[in-house]
Amino acid sequence: MSIAVALDGPAGAGKSSIAKRAAKALDFIYVDTGALYRTIGLAATRKGVEAKPSEEVENLLSKIKVDLTFNDSGEQVVLLNGEDVSGLIRTPEASMMASKISAVPSVREYLLDLQRNIAKSHDVIMDGRDIGTVVLPDAQVKIFLTASPEARAERRYKELCEKGMNVKYEDVLNDVIQRDYNDTHRETAPLKPSEGCVMVDTTELDFEQSVEKIVSVIKENI
Ligand code: C5P
Repeated sequence: MSIAVALDGPAGAGKSSIAKRAAKALDFIYVDTGALYRTIGLAATRKGVEAKPSEEVENLLSKIKVDLTFNDSGEQVVLLNGEDVSGLIRTPEASMMASKISAVPSVREYLLDLQRNIAKSHDVIMDGRDIGTVVLPDAQVKIFLTASPEARAERRYKELCEKGMNVKYEDVLNDVIQRDYNDTHRETAPLKPSEGCVMVDTTELDFEQSVEKIVSVIKENI
């Protein structure tokens, strides 16, 4: 049987970079489920569909195909109707759209099987908001990774600046706070620690310490 690690937590807690490294160390695949919501957000933006429960969203979902594959370096690639959109979904606008569209129940339902099927066939660290609570409630290891909003905004701000994006720290912090609010207050699958999860706070940890902590929590629990 394959091993599943559910890694949940708020935006900017460092889940993806930490999980990527931990997955490499353990020879697991790493799945970033946020990319799937971002991809649907992108599809909605392109078609001018609003992110709220509606026939239009249902209609959009019936017409698109979202796939997840891995390139030769083992990195995740997301496809929207066959087009690699992995880079296009990384803008602040795409983040906000993903946060809004992810509150639509039919969108969450649409992505459920895709996520579960990946975990059936691979040892996986899957990162998201509802992996331990909804997608993989029976995962062998469940971790809730968090850090203060300021620490998370600071990290995201640096990341965006390094990518050459022209952003203000205050805007990034407001985005983090707004997305936290959206994620924790939506009716369907709100962000919350799952039962029996291990809480890891990275506010005071640097990247290497965070990776070490996650790897040791996983090793202790499998
Ligand atoms: O993780 P990332 O910031 O890329 O996720 C983008 C958005 O997708 C989040 O703000 C969150 O609202 C949503 N999301 C979700 N459930 C997941 C993963 C992401 O609702 N499992």
